[in-house]
Amino acid sequence: MTFSADQRANIDRYWSTIESSAEIGKGRTGGLSRLTLTDDDRRMRDLFVNWCREAGLTVEIDELGNIFGRREGTDPTLAPVMIGSHLDTQINGGRFDGIAGVLASLEVVRSLNDCGHVTKRPIVIVDWTNEEGARFSPPMVASGCFVGAYEVDWVKQLVSDDGARFGEELHRIGYDGHKPCKAGDIDAYFELHIEQGPILDLEKRDVGVVTGGYPSYGMRVRFNGRTAHTGPTPMDLRHNALIAGARWLTAVDDIGWDFAVGDGKATGARLAAWPNKPGILSDTAQAICDVRHPDPATARVMAEKMRRAVFESAARAGCEAEIEDEWFWGGDIFDGEMVGQIRAEAKRMNYNWRDIQSQAGHDAYFLARHCPTAMIFTPCKGGITHNNEESCDPSDLAPGLNVLLHSVVARADR
Ligand SMILES: [Zn+2]
Repeated sequence: MTFSADQRANIDRYWSTIESSAEIGKGRTGGLSRLTLTDDDRRMRDLFVNWCREAGLTVEIDELGNIFGRREGTDPTLAPVMIGSHLDTQINGGRFDGIAGVLASLEVVRSLNDCGHVTKRPIVIVDWTNEEGARFSPPMVASGCFVGAYEVDWVKQLVSDDGARFGEELHRIGYDGHKPCKAGDIDAYFELHIEQGPILDLEKRDVGVVTGGYPSYGMRVRFNGRTAHTGPTPMDLRHNALIAGARWLTAVDDIGWDFAVGDGKATGARLAAWPNKPGILSDTAQAICDVRHPDPATARVMAEKMRRAVFESAARAGCEAEIEDEWFWGGDIFDGEMVGQIRAEAKRMNYNWRDIQSQAGHDAYFLARHCPTAMIFTPCKGGITHNNEESCDPSDLAPGLNVLLHSVVARADR
């Protein structure tokens, strides 16, 4: 048997691996709470490594715990085609976010084994450590380090809210590998992911061809004030950093509403103040916000309004503000040729597809800095995600899986 144009992945086998994964690290009913570098993460990794070995892959672990399973090509000197996503989840996560993508990459390999097709280029499937950033912030650190955006030592010293250190937890679960966390030559990177938004489900589409990400700007700001008694201190002598932070969060939320008609979004994501007690005004606050919009120029306007709101909010509360960190992601980062290939496969297989922009962060954003990259979205019920009620049927995932299979083989055979 050879690989033919009407080859399809084995959806039942794929679905059973998803169900096995959903047994590890159960959270609230129906969901998962499989935080990175926990015992449950180790159990899931062990299972994935076993599946990779059973599929004949050579498994390597790098120094940040990224797991690579390599299927050799007929010409091992060629750069590999890589497919991946993540097996960790949010604290109130679902069974598909990330997992659908990693296990789809495994199913691609298994399907090729079924028909005995060996591609010209090697295929490497990958599970990225700590995509979610739910235990160790920021997210996507291991794929980021892989492409040179972060240093290994910096990642290893990250501390979780429960006081654990990334490097020590990685060692404890036995996944501090020897392979350097550094991308070599990669021909292409594919990632399949559930949409995490409502569009495909609402429009009853089979597949989303991801053309890029919403341009997104974020900021971490420190507000500095002065502690004082809440009773006797007159309003004009107050420097309450908690209020400066709170004003900034609500100002940014308002920016989201102002641009909502064009699908702009703004998030007040975090506010931490000190001492944050009754009876005393807070002298420091740290706040995190972000804005995003499908149109790059509008996203820039929203970002500028967010920036000005920092200083206005600080002034209203008699405080000083300092922007500690700023970031940008998204835009037209995906490879035009790969996007075209994915679109062509979706058309050829008669799926109901549409172009779509990603609104969430993904490991693929970092890979796109290093090599040609593209993503495939599958529908999920109501767009519900980062929630135990995240839900998909096999029929939601099969079209995306088949598009992935054929797109990968087309790329790996050239
Ligand atoms: Zn994800």
